[in-house]
Amino acid sequence: MGKEMEKWIEKAKEAGFTCAGELDPATLQVKEMVRDACAADKCGAYGHNWTCPPECGTLEECAQRMKKYQRGILLQTVGKLQKDIDTKGYRETEEHHLEAFRKFTKEIRKTYPDALCLGAGGCRICKTCAYPDPCRFPEQACSSMEAYGLFVTQVCRDNQMQYYYGPKTIAYTACVLF
Ligand code: SF4
Repeated sequence: MGKEMEKWIEKAKEAGFTCAGELDPATLQVKEMVRDACAADKCGAYGHNWTCPPECGTLEECAQRMKKYQRGILLQTVGKLQKDIDTKGYRETEEHHLEAFRKFTKEIRKTYPDALCLGAGGCRICKTCAYPDPCRFPEQACSSMEAYGLFVTQVCRDNQMQYYYGPKTIAYTACVLF
């Protein structure tokens, strides 16, 4: 691992992530089944957020965008739950993850303004996305890994990062290509 990658892994930990590791962009594969899951619209963002499908582009367009990058970093927040289904635990871990993601993306974009930052869940910068009116913060808006057709479990597996941490845990994963 090069010094540049080591530096960003260190910065990811400082931002608050539980784990961070090198991601090889060549391992990224877009999957129809992930896009189909978005289209089922369980989260209500499909067709309502600039960073989600179909507005974030076709799978082919997403794959082409990702191909431009030589380096990547996987970012993960692992939370402990009080019980098997713990809504408060999910929410708190997700908030922690979002906060770390915002800090980290702000930092890495100072060095790599064109970094492609893919979070867990669609863009939440605004309480309600401006869609279909123009995006309010195009410089900060981020799609999710799923919106780009990535099957997060496989991305973790292909890059030697744990995905499941045992009972009563939850893991949120994001990545940045730069
Ligand atoms: S920054 Fe606001 S308007 Fe732009 S994609 Fe994100 S939520 Fe929507």
